[in-house]
Amino acid sequence: MGSIHEEVERIQTLFESELSSAGTLDALQGVRVRFLGKKGEVTSLLKRLGSLPAEERPEAGRVLNELRDLIEEALSRRTEECAGVQVAAREAGEWLDVTLPGRGRPWGAFHPVAQITQEAIDIFVSMGFSVAYGPEVEDDFHNFEGLNIPPHHPARDMQDTFYLENGLLLRTHTSPVEVRSMRRWGAPLRIIIPGKVFRRDSDQTHSPMFHQLEGLLVDENISLAHLKGCLEAFANRIFGRQLAARYRASYFPFTEPSLEMDVECVACSGKNPSCRICKGSGWLEISGMGMTHPNVLMAGGIDPARYNGFAWGMGLDRIAMLKYGLNDLRVFFEGDLAFLNSKGERR
Ligand SMILES: [Zn+2]
Repeated sequence: MGSIHEEVERIQTLFESELSSAGTLDALQGVRVRFLGKKGEVTSLLKRLGSLPAEERPEAGRVLNELRDLIEEALSRRTEECAGVQVAAREAGEWLDVTLPGRGRPWGAFHPVAQITQEAIDIFVSMGFSVAYGPEVEDDFHNFEGLNIPPHHPARDMQDTFYLENGLLLRTHTSPVEVRSMRRWGAPLRIIIPGKVFRRDSDQTHSPMFHQLEGLLVDENISLAHLKGCLEAFANRIFGRQLAARYRASYFPFTEPSLEMDVECVACSGKNPSCRICKGSGWLEISGMGMTHPNVLMAGGIDPARYNGFAWGMGLDRIAMLKYGLNDLRVFFEGDLAFLNSKGERR
């Protein structure tokens, strides 16, 4: 073992090297134990003081005390720095600025057609109708034959049908659900049938897929007056005000007699000859309708001698166009978010 001075120098060099590589509070505690602990380097050296000649002791004691103080001081300075860095790092990680404004979340909106569909359902349900659904892929019987449209009937040409390879077809109207519902529930019956329908047709006011809402009421002693009351109440509620209505004779295979219902133009009430919604006629076609044909009741398993009924069908896309003042149906299917958000209601 060298002299006290050599030992002090060795310990000092060793300490400085260990201190510079100790980067955490735990590592600094390790350095403290190694040099100032009970069996530490400095402590062991202090224990040797007693074995020195008496004249050397005061000087050696002074040198050792200086070394111990120096190590103490360096350690506590580094410990303080290190603790500060750790606190700063934690604060940086957990920093929360409570004065920042909240992050905006984009809100979705109902599609205008979905919205009109729900409004229409609500209105008819409040009149006592139930909602019925059926398959979009149909067979010939439910889409045509059961609705008094036998093979080769000219009405089949009125509806450009998508036929599938397996002999089935995409329903051209929601009417197949009339037959299915009569067979399932019998009479009396009050249903509405909202849903998608498909026809080979595509232009500004026609889409190969569009939405219908159909209704069927079957009971005893039903008359056209019931039908008119029902549909006029609906039109007034969906457009939000009392509208004049008129009826024109029409033809559908599944109703007899058959009518078309018009309501006064919601945009101009017939006062604007250049109105782009009614094209100056003052009237808007809303719905085809009529008294259910006895053949249709029989296809549904209902006795036409006891029961009669009425049915109507309307295009929900068309109702939405009229309500929102649009003249191009295609905006409903183009997915333009700016348009959808401007028309769609947020709930
Ligand atoms: Zn008009």
